[in-house]
Amino acid sequence: MGQKILVVEDNELNLKLFCDLLRAHGYQAEPVRDGREAVERAHAFAPELIVMDIQMPHISGLELIEQMKTDEALKSIPIMAVTAYAAKGDEERIRDAGAEGYVSKPISLLRFVEAVAGLLEAARNRAADPDGDADEAQPPDESFRPPA
Ligand code: MN
Repeated sequence: MGQKILVVEDNELNLKLFCDLLRAHGYQAEPVRDGREAVERAHAFAPELIVMDIQMPHISGLELIEQMKTDEALKSIPIMAVTAYAAKGDEERIRDAGAEGYVSKPISLLRFVEAVAGLLEAARNRAADPDGDADEAQPPDESFRPPA
């Protein structure tokens, strides 16, 4: 099974698009259509990443991000915000709320998948090296060459 990603998005077409795309890349995607269920579903599913739409009825993605970032069980899960409006200051508000990543609609599918992979990798690195001092302790192996 791939890594678990909770997708919170009220728009049915976007929800299906994101989940299909993530599954095509080997992730286990769990859709949440109603933002009011997002916190409970996050507790139950225990995802490695949360994709969060910002513009939703009943409760905004910004509020949900703030709630999750003050929730002991959820706060370490990276959140990638998705927003329709790339108005000036949006990215700052989203980052202030605590989201680790941000993509704006219309979504570039490639950028979406790259952003997800990047956030998951950053979270893995943080878990492996909580002090952020791995580079000092262990210099990169000069003999390593990535496959061509
Ligand atoms: Mn929406």
